[in-house]
Amino acid sequence: MIRSRFAPSPTGDVHVGSLRTALYNYLYAKKNNGSFILRLEDTDRTRLKENSVETLLNALYQTKIIPDEGLVLEEEITQTGEKGPYIQSQRLPIYQNYIKKLIDSGNAYYCFCSKERLETVREEQIKNGQTPKYDGRCRDLSETEIKERLDRGDEYVIRLKLPENKDISFKDEIRGDITVNTNDLDDQVLIKADGFPTYHFAVVVDDHLMGITDIIRGEEWLPSTPKHSYLYELFGWEKPRFYHLSNILNKNRKKLSKREGDVSVESFLNKGYLPEALVNYLALLGWSPEDNQEIFSLEELVKEFDLNRINTTGAIFDINKLNWINSQYIKNLTDEELFEKLRPFFKETEIELTPQIVNLLKDRLEYLAQGPEILDEFLKSNFEISDPEMLELLKEDSVPILYNALIEKISEVDELTSEKAQKILKEIQKEHKAEKVKGKMLYMPTRIFLTGQMHGPDLSLIMEVLGKEEVLARLDKVKNLVEESNE
Ligand code: GLU
Repeated sequence: MIRSRFAPSPTGDVHVGSLRTALYNYLYAKKNNGSFILRLEDTDRTRLKENSVETLLNALYQTKIIPDEGLVLEEEITQTGEKGPYIQSQRLPIYQNYIKKLIDSGNAYYCFCSKERLETVREEQIKNGQTPKYDGRCRDLSETEIKERLDRGDEYVIRLKLPENKDISFKDEIRGDITVNTNDLDDQVLIKADGFPTYHFAVVVDDHLMGITDIIRGEEWLPSTPKHSYLYELFGWEKPRFYHLSNILNKNRKKLSKREGDVSVESFLNKGYLPEALVNYLALLGWSPEDNQEIFSLEELVKEFDLNRINTTGAIFDINKLNWINSQYIKNLTDEELFEKLRPFFKETEIELTPQIVNLLKDRLEYLAQGPEILDEFLKSNFEISDPEMLELLKEDSVPILYNALIEKISEVDELTSEKAQKILKEIQKEHKAEKVKGKMLYMPTRIFLTGQMHGPDLSLIMEVLGKEEVLARLDKVKNLVEESNE
């Protein structure tokens, strides 16, 4: 049975790249009727950030990338499954047990070197143009010395004892066979001075004990995989399949980082990117479906997803594409759904959200937080008409005719619904066609009178949203302009 996992560290916000990793692991497991496991890698105690686990689970549950096993969100955050605990800091005795095996077999050793010494060695190596690595001082300490120093309570770490000049090979399912010589590798620390394992040790022990068959993760872990692979060999464990996903890049083809603005899942969701749309976009960021389909539900993704079609080059994070996908999802919402989703974005504004506003926005939103901005853009009352093109247009003889007709007809209605507005515009056209009040010369000046703009959402909707009083007030405001232009 396929068992994949997502193994984040609780270090704060969830980067969109992490969500993509989680998604691919999820899709692969679901496609193969396997299990998707969530494990928390919290062994680097210096990088822990409060509330990370909540943030993480919220991101996964909102996007429906829901773990079958491991850390799950039920009433509260709990663990489920038979291979737990799924939080590494709760597994310390397990790592102790396995590190002992490596020490006993001579494949790991105590290292008592101080930080200061390591730093000096490092500086020296860099000065000599060498790649910095541990110089092996503690590789062959005598049993007695080790015992003495342990008894004395000297601080130590435990390192992997790599053989000299040995080729280590493993297969990356996306990139092919990879071979690295141990001379180019460091004697990796496996247990740190605080007694916690390093990522490299814990990840191997846990992936094995949890029966993980496939490891799909970011390419930043590729250089570490030879060490992991060697550990599997030392323990005599079967290796899982490895897949390293290319980085998500910014426009300059550099790794997408916080410098590009907030690239956390939470910030996208907060701006009103729909979780389904974000997932859809991330699925395509590194994977190419067989045809050119671009809109996929999660169920469709599960069906179509194929690890053989993962791209080997980095994918550029294209906000315009994400916006387009999101706008497609927004258009597919019912008016009621969109109303509910927009509501929080209008809470802090003075605008009262109405079905008409929802209607007006529906085709224009790339993400929900744009709602108030777009409305403001189209509905703001403090505009000035100074654009030469507009002024030119308002000089046409037909303009005052249109202007007076608008005032007359609008004053007569009780309530200016969009249907009424439409009817009024049609009537004016019919009655004043001969005077060239038609087509562009009907809609453009009206739009300019009411919004100060030449383009925008449906005019009758705008009139309804503004309402009779406001429309008349705005017409009154441009009275002078109409008169002056036509003197
Ligand atoms: N804890 C690692 C991370 O934060 C997991 C890497 C892996 O998947 O092996 O990305």
